[in-house]
Amino acid sequence: MDQFDIIVVGGGSAGSAAAGRLAQTGKYKVCLIEAGGRNDNFLVKTPGFMPFLPKSANYRFDTVPQKGLGGRVGYQPRGKGLGGSSAINAMIYIRGNRWDYDRWAELGCAGWAYDDVLPFFKRAEHNTRGADDFHGGDGPLFVSDQTSVNPTSTAFVSSAEALQLRRNEDFNAERQEGFGIYQVTQKDGERWSAARAYVEPLREKENLRIITGTLVEKLVIENGRVTGVAIRRGKKRQILTARGGVILSAGAFNSPQILMLSGIGPAAHLRDHGIDVRVDKPAVGRDLQDHIDYVSSWQTESKVPIGDSLAGTVRMIRAMIEHRRKRTGIMTTPYAEAGGFWRVMPDAPIPDVQWHFVPAMLEDHGREKVKGHGFSLHACVLRPESRGTVTLASSDAGAPPRIDPNFLDDERDIAVLRAGVRLSHRIAEASPLADYAPQDRYPVDLGDDAALDDLIRSRADTVYHPVGTCRMGNDDQSVVDPTLKARGVEGLWIADASIMPRLVSGNTNAPSIMIGERCSDFVQADV
Ligand SMILES: Cc1cc2nc3c(=O)[nH]c(=O)nc-3n(C[C@H](O)[C@H](O)[C@H](O)COP(=O)(O)OP(=O)(O)OC[C@H]3O[C@@H](n4cnc5c(N)ncnc54)[C@H](O)[C@@H]3O)c2cc1C
Repeated sequence: MDQFDIIVVGGGSAGSAAAGRLAQTGKYKVCLIEAGGRNDNFLVKTPGFMPFLPKSANYRFDTVPQKGLGGRVGYQPRGKGLGGSSAINAMIYIRGNRWDYDRWAELGCAGWAYDDVLPFFKRAEHNTRGADDFHGGDGPLFVSDQTSVNPTSTAFVSSAEALQLRRNEDFNAERQEGFGIYQVTQKDGERWSAARAYVEPLREKENLRIITGTLVEKLVIENGRVTGVAIRRGKKRQILTARGGVILSAGAFNSPQILMLSGIGPAAHLRDHGIDVRVDKPAVGRDLQDHIDYVSSWQTESKVPIGDSLAGTVRMIRAMIEHRRKRTGIMTTPYAEAGGFWRVMPDAPIPDVQWHFVPAMLEDHGREKVKGHGFSLHACVLRPESRGTVTLASSDAGAPPRIDPNFLDDERDIAVLRAGVRLSHRIAEASPLADYAPQDRYPVDLGDDAALDDLIRSRADTVYHPVGTCRMGNDDQSVVDPTLKARGVEGLWIADASIMPRLVSGNTNAPSIMIGERCSDFVQADV
């Protein structure tokens, strides 16, 4: 039982899709190896328990101190366990903008223009609104409308509309621009992770072996071909072999880490860690891009938003009972209920900022609890110019890699963020949101660039979309070619957010799942 046709490393968004699709064909003996657990508990399944997820489901990485953030250490949550980050994310279903994928194609990624990827988004999707030109109606990934939207979230959309920022009922159709309520990856009021969509239904299939709680330490490479993986479970080490090849889907931080531990990466850096160089590939771990984000926050006397008070607690307890009985109510909240896309720079070809409205006061990624009620408004830079790196901190696969997003290194990023934050405040000051008499928790003179920049640098951080560390391209320097095949070795595909040559203008779960879907086709064409 140690021999397979295909081994998939990492059961996250892309890995689940790739493994599930390949197993479904019945043609391959597939093994899915996941470092974390099964993630099949009610805390993961119940959207409203997001702030109370088990620590074991999250790597909780730190970045190195960020110069652009005043020397602060950033936080990088990443999902651990089946579903990967789709098991801990905010469930927002967004694909990015048509322009993003057309740009990928222009950059040399033939076959990745919007019209090429749309069929795969549709194939993945089961939108409860039904199928149409832009949406799938019978895919495994459930995409639903929210059933219990907080009144302040709808007020946010109306306030944007009052400023002539158009309403958008579907960010994933013809036009991305506008403000509205997000659709979410949920089914019947429960989180619908990629694992629930693609892997759980195949549990009984004999040709799919799912191994959890097992760390892949490195790829096994023989005569220039990846023939398997070296795994560690507790203290036990073992080699598993794959006749057809290996798909690496360990995410934007761990995929480059595993490549480097296997001898594929920047030669000098590998030698520094005593690793034999198999392929000198400087692009591994480079080109890290992430959405830098600033959260404005307001307190209200009104207890309508979700909050920490006696009234708020009573409401939550009732909501838990309702969710247990009917899978409806406030416990279905993704927290980031509403949002929008808009252009803040005159020369931007498409929206350059995304907003996420949270009907609660959010502090330090939810790690710090705040008393009282209020709301928060994220603004993030959709196409940052700053580039960071992922390198090895240790040659132990179990140790976190060294993550340096290099946030706000490029001045153009803070200019976009500054304009985005200004618009956040204009929206909060417009009725009907203004009717909640929100008190700004971080007041600043918005007209003063320097003061606003100081505030942004003292509070901004990721909104959780790292990509680009194993970038796809048609040049020799790129890590994978446009069929997701790794350059420099045989028998290896990479499928996860790491392959994106440019960060998409939106959240990254649906795009990662689309990448997994595509990988399963590329592998079938080859094996
Ligand atoms: C807190 C948070 C909120 C987010 N909110 C949203 C949102 O609302 N909407 C959205 O679209 N996107 C959101 N995202 C981003 C999105 O979820 C991710 O971009 C996407 O899930 C990435 O998919 P992936 O396949 O690249 O990696 P992941 O889903 O992270 O999967 C990688 C998997 O590989 C496993 N792995 C890693 N190393 C090893 C190893 N050595 N051996 C074995 N297994 C290993 C990991 O345990 C993990 O399961 C959010 C992310 C986070 C963290």
